[in-house]
Amino acid sequence: MIPVERLAIEQGKPVRSKPWNFHFHGPDEIGELEKEYVLKALDSRKMFRFMNKREESFTAQLEQFYKNRLGVSYALAVNGGTSSLICALAAAGIGPGDEVIVPAYTFIATAAAVVAVRAVPVIVECDDTLNMDPAAFEAAITPYTKAVIPVHMRGVMAQMNEITAIAKQHGLTVIEDVAQANGGSYFGRALGSIGDFGCFSFQHYKVITAGEGGMVVTNSHEGYIRAGHQHDCAFQFWGGDERVDTIPGENYRMSEINGALGLAQAQKLDTILGRLRQNKQRIADGLAPIPGLALQRVVDPAGDCGVSIVFYLPDSRAAGTFSKALQAEGIPNGTVDNGGVADRHIYRNWDYILNKRMASPNGTPWNCAEYKGSVSYDPDMCPVTLNYLRRAISIGLHQRMSQEDCDDVIHAIRKVAAVIIG
Ligand SMILES: *Cc1c(COP(=O)(O)O)cnc(C)c1O
Repeated sequence: MIPVERLAIEQGKPVRSKPWNFHFHGPDEIGELEKEYVLKALDSRKMFRFMNKREESFTAQLEQFYKNRLGVSYALAVNGGTSSLICALAAAGIGPGDEVIVPAYTFIATAAAVVAVRAVPVIVECDDTLNMDPAAFEAAITPYTKAVIPVHMRGVMAQMNEITAIAKQHGLTVIEDVAQANGGSYFGRALGSIGDFGCFSFQHYKVITAGEGGMVVTNSHEGYIRAGHQHDCAFQFWGGDERVDTIPGENYRMSEINGALGLAQAQKLDTILGRLRQNKQRIADGLAPIPGLALQRVVDPAGDCGVSIVFYLPDSRAAGTFSKALQAEGIPNGTVDNGGVADRHIYRNWDYILNKRMASPNGTPWNCAEYKGSVSYDPDMCPVTLNYLRRAISIGLHQRMSQEDCDDVIHAIRKVAAVIIG
């Protein structure tokens, strides 16, 4: 029997009194290399990538990095993850009248990108992987479905074999949203290289940052050229291919300053991931046999980015109590009901989607003449996902955590579990 220690919320001594000084992954690694590259970009006085020769363009080098890393034929740098999704959707020819299936748990941008091309997002349940449930995806397919966007949330891969098999059977385009799992893999295959398109983000919160930025990857030549047009209304004058029809673009270009920062950070991707994975493994091993506490299912732990560790408690009440107790022990963590802050990653809080609202009330994806489907939304429409999320405790991990920091996490969770789960 392990003696039960008095919890910090009950005036016991906290496991950890040292401050938790971990912030963001990419930004915390900004150093000499980033400064060197960004200054070089400034010194070149060419902020627009197409003014540079390919080998002198930071943006082009960042694209090359992704092509090499993922083993894909084409990579297009853009100014954000949302724009990368919009470019992929437009490249796949998706628009009014089409439905696109998205998971109930993802950043709101996944759904926003679908409506940006005037298609209808269809929201489906997640399972204990906290990613799209393949069976829910299959059940949601209608004659109007054109694409599916599996999202690899918080560094953890979606079930791509199942999802791609179903998509293939129904002739659907697969667009992977890799914004939160840059560098992750699925049974040896790089995330983003499995679907028809892979979409990355280099925003501040992601694994590495370009300030703002994104990347679309694909093996389709036509897909790449169409994405190129979507990301630059004058793409035909810099690149393009006369065999592929032009389409008007919306200018989602990456600047050379962002390209320089992104390229410097890309050199650090594997170091960041290596440390994150080591830390997550250590914590997961330390938590393995706690009755009543189940770790999030990760179908291929070797490919997990390790940016977070998530575990489920038996019910939402226990999760709420557990979360507060863990916080008091000095370990920051989150639950869905945390402080009443509406989490933008949960479909329930996607106000403009649930209310089918666009800038203009006319010709929206839902009421336009082309749309023959009948999608409906309700805050309670995905009870399975909500149930998992309400029982889930999530701890953000960081590459700079030491073994001692990891052991504090294990100790604190075990201490709290001994009292709260018993
Ligand atoms: C961050 C994010 C995006 C959007 O990326 P931005 O660069 O912020 O536009 C899309 N999908 C997911 C899952 C994200 O986390």
